[in-house]
Amino acid sequence: MLKEEHIKKINQYKTPFYYYDLQILQKTLDVVKAESYKYNYHVHYAFKANTNSRIIDLIQKNGLGADCVSGNEVKCAIENNFDSSKVVFAGVGKSDDEINYALEKNIFCFNCESLQELDVINELAAKQHKLASIALRINPNVDAHTHKYITTGLEENKFGINPYEFETVIEKLKHLPNLKLIGLHFHIGSQITDLSPFKKLCSRVNEINTYFLNKGFDLPIINVGGGVGINYHEPDKHAIIDFAAYFKVFNNFIELRKNQELHFELGRAIVAQCGSLISKVLYIKNGINTNFAILDAGMTELIRPALYQAFHVIENISSKEKNTIKYDVVGPICESSDCFGKAVELPETKRSDIIAIRSAGAYGEVMASRYNLRDEVRSYFSE
Ligand SMILES: *Cc1c(COP(=O)(O)O)cnc(C)c1O
Repeated sequence: MLKEEHIKKINQYKTPFYYYDLQILQKTLDVVKAESYKYNYHVHYAFKANTNSRIIDLIQKNGLGADCVSGNEVKCAIENNFDSSKVVFAGVGKSDDEINYALEKNIFCFNCESLQELDVINELAAKQHKLASIALRINPNVDAHTHKYITTGLEENKFGINPYEFETVIEKLKHLPNLKLIGLHFHIGSQITDLSPFKKLCSRVNEINTYFLNKGFDLPIINVGGGVGINYHEPDKHAIIDFAAYFKVFNNFIELRKNQELHFELGRAIVAQCGSLISKVLYIKNGINTNFAILDAGMTELIRPALYQAFHVIENISSKEKNTIKYDVVGPICESSDCFGKAVELPETKRSDIIAIRSAGAYGEVMASRYNLRDEVRSYFSE
């Protein structure tokens, strides 16, 4: 349950809105830094998880790099004082304008996802008289065992370059003088709660790293992406994931050469638990088999449940009722998928009660839309 100090604050504002506990975010960053610095690992924050300016400002002040998947994310990172030498840019469909902008800003690395993209970056870099640093985003064919919409490392997924294309890539690079291959990049999916897919990833990375060395490429950067999952069921008990165990897997299983740096791109695990979507109950509708609690927030504010059946803890933070009842907690949008949870056990709930939907700091506010001409969602902070 959200703490009393937060509830007091929350009660001052008009719903719906995102509420961010910056203390949780800072504590999370402290653990990320402590655990990754043990091994001299480099951590980039995956911008797409949350680009709220207070959030990215705090992350920047803690010295993380930026992992971007669009030109506007690169721009956002640079305008928010992330050092361009710590900005990486991935994405299967980078447009010419996006590539040009990133070249102008001399970002650290393009994570390239196809053979054709190599030609395009080379051509645009030549026009700017630049040498573009690139890493190959490799599809390692490792199953992340997560929801099918957020698995990215299988051959059937659109992401990355496949191992059968390596020879062609190596041949191609000989004729692309404005590209400098500096590393290998991987990202196998998101919300991965079991560490074993990361062990498998390590062994694939080792094979591929050796393959490139044997072909004459002694690459300084290995980037293993992000994707480590959080506990959506117990947001208070597990506010911060076990980063020690996560980084240790890589330390144990990845074989880096002396000159090689290991990079990570973490999104969800950094920002998910610091955010809650706060909403008010507009109506209670009692049916024969199902009771509905109809909120003033919906899939327009938080689309994860509608988009990939995501689970979020739902709390009635204003009720003192002892008696509990099951509700389908739904939003006001004209779509049946606009449902935050089915048969959710809540204290007996009435109109105007305040509801907190927890663990909404990642892929929440950033995915908000104005469908149904809804107002843009607001945000407030613990301090
Ligand atoms: C989304 C994404 C990440 C971050 O994923 P999380 O599950 O939020 O940690 C990292 N790298 C790339 C390339 C991504 O697309």
